[in-house]
Amino acid sequence: MTDITPDETAFAVVDIRGLHKRFGDNEVLKGIDLQIKRQEVVCILGKSGSGKSTLLRCINGLESFEEGALTVDGQVIRQHDPAAMRELRQNVGMIFQSFNLFPHLTVGKNVMLAPTLVKKMPREQAERAARALLKRVGLEEKFATWPGNLSGGQQQRVAIARSLAMNPEVLLCDEITSALDPELVGEVLQVIEGLATDGMTIIMVTHEMGFARKVADRIVFMHQGRVHEMGTPEDIFDNPRTAELKQFLA
Ligand code: ADP
Ligand code: MG
Repeated sequence: MTDITPDETAFAVVDIRGLHKRFGDNEVLKGIDLQIKRQEVVCILGKSGSGKSTLLRCINGLESFEEGALTVDGQVIRQHDPAAMRELRQNVGMIFQSFNLFPHLTVGKNVMLAPTLVKKMPREQAERAARALLKRVGLEEKFATWPGNLSGGQQQRVAIARSLAMNPEVLLCDEITSALDPELVGEVLQVIEGLATDGMTIIMVTHEMGFARKVADRIVFMHQGRVHEMGTPEDIFDNPRTAELKQFLA
């Protein structure tokens, strides 16, 4: 395991060193080293089964790991540490392919729930924050609407607002446009691009190559549980070095 010097942790908001993760005999992450700077936008590419979702789930404390160390915003997590993982989930926002809004709560209540419940934020303050966040994702007029009456793209934008309500240090996005009809993909990507412009640190698994090329500072290509290639969008898309990446992009 690599030692982490204070300087490096101050520099990287997410610092992953020698991370190994197994499901039984299946070693899914085979030693991941990855440092993400504050305000950086990193897109993760790779075939299905290459470990992308598992890596994101480790970063927000949904999965434990067997070897290595993970530091998020200075908080060090070594292997299985339920209390640290719980705290991690509050500092790291995650959005999934399925929007998972609470169907029995209005849009506004969906966004207000975690701040009022977990952070004990007063109702009026939570409501003001929720309205501001809904405005940010272009849905200020939907505060009192039920999720079931929204399009998939609108629901995903509410999910983004809900995630931002906890004021996360890092936002993780796992194929958040994959379940959407093609005509709804753009409105969700536009919201993410806006957050990137505003300086949010974003780690995003995506198949949207055009978005990755335009918005990402850095691209990570995963293959069989390893960071196989990493670089700027130009490096990765215009000058792929490995046969595996060339084949993936073809
Ligand atoms: P990707 O997101 O790149 O498609 P995943 O991280 O979902 O890849 O999966 C990587 C590997 O881990 C796959 O072989 C998958 O079957 C396995 N895996 C993922 N989650 C679990 C789990 N909860 N239990 C057992 N195996 C899992
Ligand atoms: Mg996945």
